Amino acid sequence: MSTDMSNLPTQTDLHHLGIAELAARLAAREVSSVEVAQHFLARIKQQDALGAFLAVNADVSLAQARAADIRLAAGERTPLLGVPLAHKDVFVTRDFATTAGSKMLENYRSPFDATVVSKLAQAGMVTLGKLNCDEFAMGSGNDNSAYKPVHNPWDVSRIPGGSSGGSAAAVAARLVPAATGTDTGGSIRQPASLSGITGIKPTYGRCSRYGMVAFASSLDQAGPMARSALDCALLLSSMAGPDLDRDSTSLDLPVADYATELIAHNLDGARRGGQKSLQNLRIGLPKQFFGAGCAPDVLAAVRAALAEFEKLGATLVDVDLPLTELSIPVYYVIAPAEASSNLSRFDGVRYGHRAAHYTDLTDMYKKSRSEGFGDEATRRIMIGTYVLSHGYYDAYYLKAQKIRRLIAEDFQKAFTQCDVIAGPVSPTVAWKLGENKADPVANYLADIYTLSSSLAGLPGMSVPAGFGAHGMPVGLQLIGNYFKEAQLLGAAHRFQVATDWHTHTPHMA
Ligand code: GLN
Repeated sequence: MSTDMSNLPTQTDLHHLGIAELAARLAAREVSSVEVAQHFLARIKQQDALGAFLAVNADVSLAQARAADIRLAAGERTPLLGVPLAHKDVFVTRDFATTAGSKMLENYRSPFDATVVSKLAQAGMVTLGKLNCDEFAMGSGNDNSAYKPVHNPWDVSRIPGGSSGGSAAAVAARLVPAATGTDTGGSIRQPASLSGITGIKPTYGRCSRYGMVAFASSLDQAGPMARSALDCALLLSSMAGPDLDRDSTSLDLPVADYATELIAHNLDGARRGGQKSLQNLRIGLPKQFFGAGCAPDVLAAVRAALAEFEKLGATLVDVDLPLTELSIPVYYVIAPAEASSNLSRFDGVRYGHRAAHYTDLTDMYKKSRSEGFGDEATRRIMIGTYVLSHGYYDAYYLKAQKIRRLIAEDFQKAFTQCDVIAGPVSPTVAWKLGENKADPVANYLADIYTLSSSLAGLPGMSVPAGFGAHGMPVGLQLIGNYFKEAQLLGAAHRFQVATDWHTHTPHMA
């Protein structure tokens, strides 16, 4: 135990600590992993009405925390040891049910852990439970969960964003210091933006998809959601890495020590005698991201954040992503096409809910799938089946794939002029729960700024950048070239050293 207790947080303050700070307290043995887990479990219970969690099991979590305490007592010191987190409910887990937000998988228990889950467990993290999400990660408001909606901690009458809405709300309300999320077309960045936290979607293939309930396999990617770029960097170093025996699309590249890189670069900048920390960074601003489609309050916050980057030495250059608008129809052809194929396994035989009453095999499939899938999943299965069917394949799916390639090429042209691309994440702040429920196309259109980089497979992140209408958080999006996660995290970190948007908390925290 340390002798000077003066600046120790009281137990009630533990949730205000980030991962790095928590790990330091744990390493100094000022607090035990069991105490930390108990503190957060109490908060999760207290804020149950937010709807962020779908499964909690204190016995399992505390057993993991005890195991972490034994490792700590033995002198092991690794950056995440004993720190708690929770997983989006599309990562399969042995110790908790996995539903993917769907009735189809109610009470489903996986016989194994997803690779990302087991990597974080090996790093010593303690799982506090499973986080609510849109059904099969399809949505932008977390109002497509078959179980319950998630409320935005900044204003509980509003959505937290989706599909990783439970992850974003839980981190924002300080129910967990960190969470995993998945991003197919924006589902890490958009809820991070709308709930005022930091999140990064790595390059496609950077994290293994093994054990992630598949939505659109050529787009799905796991990533961390936390309070700061530093915390995301600490998490990503443990989440990322090749897993070629299990996910052939995982990248066979070494994983950077993102946190060390991000801090080292910072010191380096300072050491070089007064040079600004982002001296040589060229930030590209696509004109398509700053047009009339974006709400003025969001644009104002984004522009103010960019002015801050300029103060840090970055230069702003105009770039062109002419096919941005097409990313919506292209994504909403390709993602449903892949979803219709991936969801075919949920037939009541191989996986998923089986209807209690049916007349024959076909009737059993029909009833099981009709009962198990919600409206949005059903809609996407229908669209996907249609665009893949003989006669329509060339007109829709093949054409979408061709435009997808052109979208990726436009990014490469832009990256000849700049190092990172910046813009808004979402055209508006979080909307009211129920507002877009009856209008799926309104939800699709709100994905305009996140889809193109997803289609290109590029890494992107959302960084808290201020507040807009109704006092709701606004995120700045940073998009990097392939494998440039360290550069994105470094730029975001330096912005967070200079600003305090990421430290603001909603009332309930
Ligand atoms: N909002 C998008 C959709 O509904 C993105 C979802 C995601 O990234 N999982 O498909």
